[in-house]
Amino acid sequence: MSTCQNEHRHYPEFEMLPHDQGGIGRHKCCGCAYERGFQLGLNREEMLDLDIDSLPVSQAGTVRHKSPHAAFAMGYQDGIRASYN
Ligand SMILES: [Zn+2]
Repeated sequence: MSTCQNEHRHYPEFEMLPHDQGGIGRHKCCGCAYERGFQLGLNREEMLDLDIDSLPVSQAGTVRHKSPHAAFAMGYQDGIRASYN
């Protein structure tokens, strides 16, 4: 299982995500989940797949113990908005 080293682990916007202490996504990188969602939104994909098992893990920064499901959804919405710019 890969560990995320990306700078997005420290982005302050992930502070607002709900905590995921006991869920399956607990150790997954929310930054990677966000970027996956963003790309799908930018392409206005209609079939969404978070594929949580394939996300890198992260215990660092602002993404620690945050919900990757919420991050993915936020990324998708931001991606959709960006697609209209
Ligand atoms: Zn990441």
